[in-house]
Amino acid sequence: MSDDPSAKLRANLRGTLIERNDPGYDDARKLYNGMIDKRPSLIARCLDVADVIAAVDFGRDNDLRIAIRGGGHNGPGLASVDDGLVIDLSTMRGVRVDPAARTVRVAAGCTQGDVDHATHPFGLAVPAGIISTTGIAGLTLSGGHGYLSRKYGLTIDNLLEADVVLADGRFVTASKDKNADLFWALRGGGGNFGVVTSFKFALHPVSTVFAGPIAWDQKHARIIMQRYREFLPAAPEDLGIFLGLKTVLSCAPFPQELWGKRICLLMCCYNGTEERAKAALAPLLDSLPAPWFNWMATMPYPAVQSMFDGLYPKDMQWYWRGDFVKTLPDSAIDAHLEQAAKTPSELSLMHLYPIDGAVHRVASGETAWNCRDATWSMVIAGIDPNPQNAGPITRWTKAYWEAVHPFDLGGAYPNFMMDDEGDARLQATYGDNYPRLALVKSKYDPANLFRVNQNIRPSVA
Ligand SMILES: Cc1cc2nc3c(=O)[nH]c(=O)nc-3n(C[C@H](O)[C@H](O)[C@H](O)COP(=O)(O)OP(=O)(O)OC[C@H]3O[C@@H](n4cnc5c(N)ncnc54)[C@H](O)[C@@H]3O)c2cc1C
Repeated sequence: MSDDPSAKLRANLRGTLIERNDPGYDDARKLYNGMIDKRPSLIARCLDVADVIAAVDFGRDNDLRIAIRGGGHNGPGLASVDDGLVIDLSTMRGVRVDPAARTVRVAAGCTQGDVDHATHPFGLAVPAGIISTTGIAGLTLSGGHGYLSRKYGLTIDNLLEADVVLADGRFVTASKDKNADLFWALRGGGGNFGVVTSFKFALHPVSTVFAGPIAWDQKHARIIMQRYREFLPAAPEDLGIFLGLKTVLSCAPFPQELWGKRICLLMCCYNGTEERAKAALAPLLDSLPAPWFNWMATMPYPAVQSMFDGLYPKDMQWYWRGDFVKTLPDSAIDAHLEQAAKTPSELSLMHLYPIDGAVHRVASGETAWNCRDATWSMVIAGIDPNPQNAGPITRWTKAYWEAVHPFDLGGAYPNFMMDDEGDARLQATYGDNYPRLALVKSKYDPANLFRVNQNIRPSVA
């Protein structure tokens, strides 16, 4: 018998238990956002469902605060916890495609890149986000939007089934027919209800796309934002198109004469041929001045999904704020332009991602994700490699958000929230769905074991 309290967990794991004095500890606790520096007591790197059950049981029985880690990309670093237990799924990476049924089973530690890599040879894809290193688990559980959402919906709209280890250690499957209340809550309610060990998604035909960025001098941003606002409702749903206010990075492949210049960008991904893409974009592009560059080209879908990876490596400083946006009046555009002109670093940005098309065809009560009537999910992100710039990028992000928030809806995409925004923001985000989420939480996690997240507190029925 050992006096070491973690020995029991170590003995029950096929994966690795990493403790503070272990050589790999600093590497294992590192998150994508370099602004977050948490020191968990234990990191249980799980290999299978049995490991996850052992870790949940150990954490609960020893009163440890538990964080769940998928891809580790979460803005406020909710994949880790000071002095607690991290259930790290990042080595559970299997993907199995069923091309005949057009479904894919994805282990919870997969990144989006893992999923795209496995589905692309079959000419199929799951709608997800725009950076391949993002974890599929955290992205899915809070919604998941990207280039394919206008046509095929959010990632949760394509979720068919999830395997979950609950707070009491039980393993259940949630789907429309099994534990339907849990399945409803998992589609947008985040990591509140248990540890998801695998997801089953519907796949769609996506193979070669015509995609890439188009960038203009930011002095044209007003007209671009106006025309984009008018163009979007009638634009074909095969066209994913988000708008960004950004800066040209001072590095290849950007032309040196543009380095450091502020731009308005339309990032496009058309699921179809070049000819059709050009026809789809013509009404918009023909009404705008000539861009500084238009790099749209034919490419495999995974290429556009990983196009930004190299520009946003792990360990930079990130501070985020988001909002759901319904309309973009000229006064809101003016507020955007005033703030975007003050970006404190080349990487800092504002993006408007469309929330329309197929996303609007799902009723807001059908999944926990409530804001189906928004037109965009906006993110403002202060980003810089230098930790000394953490203050300036944070202040800029908050000031920008305060200037545009009066034009926006009350809630935001939970995956674009930090952990300093308060319960009222989360309640505004879930709206009418919040009380139902609190009830599902009280059924599946009454003691709020899973609270290192955008937390929904259990309510009593
Ligand atoms: C560079 C970048 C680009 C992004 N682009 C997009 C985008 O295009 N579209 C979009 O929708 N989002 C985007 N996001 C946001 C992204 O969805 C969130 O950061 C998300 O939390 C990442 O998931 P993860 O698994 O990597 O996170 P993690 O940090 O590992 O986990 C985040 C939280 O999710 C929960 N969680 C994770 N895994 C599980 C699990 N298996 N079971 C239960 N709960 C779990 C936990 O509460 C955890 O705290 C982007 C983020 C970054 C950093």
